Amino acid sequence: MEFEKKRDRLVKRLATRRNLSDRTLDAIRAVPRHEFVPEAKQSAAYNDTPLPIGEGQTISAPHMVAIMAELLELTPGDEVLEIGTGCGYHAAVTAELVGPEHVYSVEYHTSLAERARETLQRTGYGEVSVRAGDGRDGWPECAPFDRSYLTCAADTIPESIREQVRTGGIVLGPLRNGGQRLVKGVVQSDGTLQRESHGRVRFVPLK
Ligand code: SAH
Repeated sequence: MEFEKKRDRLVKRLATRRNLSDRTLDAIRAVPRHEFVPEAKQSAAYNDTPLPIGEGQTISAPHMVAIMAELLELTPGDEVLEIGTGCGYHAAVTAELVGPEHVYSVEYHTSLAERARETLQRTGYGEVSVRAGDGRDGWPECAPFDRSYLTCAADTIPESIREQVRTGGIVLGPLRNGGQRLVKGVVQSDGTLQRESHGRVRFVPLK
């Protein structure tokens, strides 16, 4: 109950401070973020900040997850590839928007992938597919995707990920260029990306 109240307050703050759709706000309201963070951090789960989740990694701040959901223009049934499962929170929010059976997520650290799988199962998102491995390879067996996003910063969008997103699909991620910027790319018929930048961000690096 206490957590629900805190979550409601967080959603209200996001609604007034950011330009977010009701669908995105409902998705944030639906996911129990406290279940995804380590027990010692649960009291801070509804602060709008990143938090440590082990292995030197962090769960993204709720506003960043919400902004990325908007930029990805997610609609039910979209097939989505996430690079960097971490604790699984972002994948759960995406699952609210497209349906859990349409979310595929790759995590570099086996320990995080296993824990994310358990948490997603426990919170009702067991149909999200999680694989331990290098996200640079994408998930060729499950391609093509309508959308793909990185939750870790790269120099460029890895080629295999771009190749696994259909023409007209969207890729999104923090790219390093001096500092990091959130870059959205729409895949063109010749395989190139039509890019736009959406401001400065700070993510952990892609390994
Ligand atoms: N979406 C996550 C955010 C996790 S932070 C959440 O909601 O918690 C970024 C994650 O990307 C980390 O867990 C990190 O281990 C992972 N990562 C870094 N490089 C990777 C790679 N090459 N392939 C897959 N995952 C990677």
